[in-house]
Amino acid sequence: MNTDKHAPIQWQFSRRAQKLESSAIREILKVTMRPEIISFAGGLPSPETFPVDHMRAAYEKVLSKQGKVSLQYGPSDGYAPLREWVASTLSTDGACIVPEQVLMVSGSQQGLDLLGKVLIDEGSKVLVETPSYLGALQAFSVYGPQFESVPTDDGGLLPESLDAIGKDARLLYALPNFQNPTGRTLSVERRHALVESCARLGVPLIEDDPYGALCYRGDPLPKLLNMNPEGVIHMGSFSKVLTPGIRLGYVVAPEPLVRKLEQAKQATDLHTAQLTQMVVYEAVKDGFLSQHIPTIRKLYADQCQVMLSALEQYFPEGVRWTRPEGGMFIWVTLPEHIDSMKLLEEAIEELVAFVPGAPFYANAPQKNTLRLSFVTVSPEKIREGVAKLGKLIKAKL
Ligand code: PMP
Repeated sequence: MNTDKHAPIQWQFSRRAQKLESSAIREILKVTMRPEIISFAGGLPSPETFPVDHMRAAYEKVLSKQGKVSLQYGPSDGYAPLREWVASTLSTDGACIVPEQVLMVSGSQQGLDLLGKVLIDEGSKVLVETPSYLGALQAFSVYGPQFESVPTDDGGLLPESLDAIGKDARLLYALPNFQNPTGRTLSVERRHALVESCARLGVPLIEDDPYGALCYRGDPLPKLLNMNPEGVIHMGSFSKVLTPGIRLGYVVAPEPLVRKLEQAKQATDLHTAQLTQMVVYEAVKDGFLSQHIPTIRKLYADQCQVMLSALEQYFPEGVRWTRPEGGMFIWVTLPEHIDSMKLLEEAIEELVAFVPGAPFYANAPQKNTLRLSFVTVSPEKIREGVAKLGKLIKAKL
């Protein structure tokens, strides 16, 4: 074809598409993929935790025993035995969850998009934590909400603040366990107060919980879902307890919402890969996670301790950081005059990277904050990287 005669296409993107931006984190990650960089920037789980042999055996078993079914299209709400497994895993004495409340999704990130699609109109009030998970802010932004940031302190969301700002909100998006990005956890008292406030105000409460199982000590705290299954939308994921590459998560919600989400899911991708769901069911059905998750908890707890000790040793006075009880992240607050975006430029020159905190704020970004992930870096490199960062910060005091 002779293209000389054709004018280049002037792409006219939809108004919705114009709201899409590349995640600041993914852009940064591109730079930090360089092997010489000590990167605390990633949000990736440690590949050491991926049960490769166990997954291979599950794939082999499914393909040899149920090959034809697993390679066929499947139902939009998901593979029934896996939905039953999710429902029974989440049920407690006081709150029975039924499979009809479970929608399997292609990673919980897809769940966020589907929730945005069915719950948010242009201008809808959406309540989020200060700061919140960037991927959720991005997913919801496409639907044009008016974000309202709910005040928080070191213990997470302040439920009492909802009375003033919660009226007419379409939803509240919360991360009660080892929050991304801050690593902080909501106490049991605050969980009850939050669920109670949302129920009183009639605001649907989203509980995004990909890290809940990764507590370093004791048992996981009670889920918001079990405190009020009528008013809470729970999101879970296999990314942090099995592997993220399979892209598998679930949304658990009251049935009318699940049916609406199912329609949105059908329009988006018909259904989540049948093979993946059958393999994951095969991989988890006999209790594998109860032996596997403790190994992840131990690894992450040790890595976290190494980073906390290094921060204590190398970071100057005037810098504050969270002390997570689980999960993958530490949140650092620098003296107010230090802009972490500028610090990152200098850090990359020193071959260290982190994620600046500003993109995690829906409103009024606090530029003196940053997120450190400690799970994919070796202890020696954690110490080396933190020492370099400490030196750069000291030079700015
Ligand atoms: N929610 C939070 C809080 C996350 O941190 C992530 C992954 N970084 C997701 C959702 C998306 O997880 P998934 O891999 O299940 O799509």
